[in-house]
Amino acid sequence: MKRTPLRAKKRYGNSTLKPSGTPLPRTPAKQRAKIRGRAPGNKRLRDEWIACEARVVDICTGRAVDMHEVLPRSAGGDPTGETNILNVCRPCHSWITDYPNLAASLGLHEFRWPELRD
Ligand SMILES: [Zn+2]
Repeated sequence: MKRTPLRAKKRYGNSTLKPSGTPLPRTPAKQRAKIRGRAPGNKRLRDEWIACEARVVDICTGRAVDMHEVLPRSAGGDPTGETNILNVCRPCHSWITDYPNLAASLGLHEFRWPELRD
């Protein structure tokens, strides 16, 4: 029986992806507007000494450098809303994202559907 050598009909690997070096797609206008809306808050954190609003015991450094979204943008939270933003220091921010359940019990974090969590 004569055998036909196996041949790839198309290239393997990431041939369907764009070649490396291709710039990422531009951020959508609506999202750019939201990010711009945070600029004054970010500038304030850079220019002024603002106290951390989380004050997680033993790790807080005192000076806020980050804007934390209590209800994250990914869960439908407002990235510029006064009531949704906490000015926090970096260690507190890391703690909140590492321990969302504990942070929620302290009122530092919210879930999109809290009723679905136990
Ligand atoms: Zn802190």
